[in-house]
Amino acid sequence: MKALVKERAEPGLWLVDVPEPEVGPGEVKIRVLRTGICGTDLHIRKFDDWARQTLELPLIVGHEFSGHVVDVAPGVEDIAVGDLVSGEGHIVCGKCRNCMAGRRHLCRNTIGLGVNRDGAFAEYVTLPATNVWVHRVPVHPDVAAIFDPFGNAVHTALSFPLVGEDVLITGAGPIGLMAAAVATHVGARHVAITDVSDERLNLAGKLGVNLALNVSRDTIADGMRRLDMREGFDVGLEMSGNPAAMRDMIAHMTHGGRIAMLGLPAEEFPIDWATVVTSMLTIKGIYGREMFETWYNMSVLLEKGLDLTPVITDRFPYDEFDAAFDTAASGRTGKVILDWSEGAWPERASDGPTQAEAAATTNRSA
Ligand SMILES: [Zn+2]
Repeated sequence: MKALVKERAEPGLWLVDVPEPEVGPGEVKIRVLRTGICGTDLHIRKFDDWARQTLELPLIVGHEFSGHVVDVAPGVEDIAVGDLVSGEGHIVCGKCRNCMAGRRHLCRNTIGLGVNRDGAFAEYVTLPATNVWVHRVPVHPDVAAIFDPFGNAVHTALSFPLVGEDVLITGAGPIGLMAAAVATHVGARHVAITDVSDERLNLAGKLGVNLALNVSRDTIADGMRRLDMREGFDVGLEMSGNPAAMRDMIAHMTHGGRIAMLGLPAEEFPIDWATVVTSMLTIKGIYGREMFETWYNMSVLLEKGLDLTPVITDRFPYDEFDAAFDTAASGRTGKVILDWSEGAWPERASDGPTQAEAAATTNRSA
């Protein structure tokens, strides 16, 4: 089968033929339809310090995907050949204190799909059945392919109650955009999002935010005036990992404000701890998705009309992966999707809008 492999300890990815995986005990084999390109994949392609220290090569990369089940190991129940599925890319140990208590997202021994074991940028992938999410509600394969980052967004956005609250989101990348869509959908009063890319802020406008602020030109205080806000934001969702964004957020929270922090900083940085103390702020780190409460939330949000299609801006066939990765790395787009289907799996009516319909609502810039 074709697979996108990190073969050598240097920048780049290579599209090569590798043996098809077979199901092991308790596993499911999936024909991949679509994959989403994540920041992690960009780090792996670039082969930066993190990738150098983390990866064992060769490795099939990628962890955001959707596909149809083609084989299940004996004894696996509730998953059938033909099911449209997504995959939870964090494979937990099942033995540590948190796993034993059912808090699987807090496992300290997580194995990452496409990082610590062969991933999903391939025609087929295998995954433990316990990591497979079957779509019981119709969803387009493009949207199903981004359930992993959508889960990051939902996990972050739903960390604190949002109904009637003023929400500040720093970072309008794909996950920040999805978090903005969720916050608006569940009933926040004002949703303000910041970035330095006008393209991404324009996308935020399509998702119904009250304010999309380019912080290279305007300040958050300007934005608050425009919204006629007097006291500061109730909830902050930090999605950028950028020190200036985090400091700015802390400075504009109301007393007792709560911050959920998903953006992963590249290195240590100072913040104004005195403000954290005197404003009595709560800061909560977020990683991955709650298994599988977040997944349940995601499916229900879509069922209840949340529209993620504006977040998907670019689609490429898998053999144009270099162009797709360059697009994703530009910092100006929403989500970039690779199509692995190659006509092998005709779109089914139950999968939602056809590819042509989906493409008509977004732009492909390739
Ligand atoms: Zn564990």
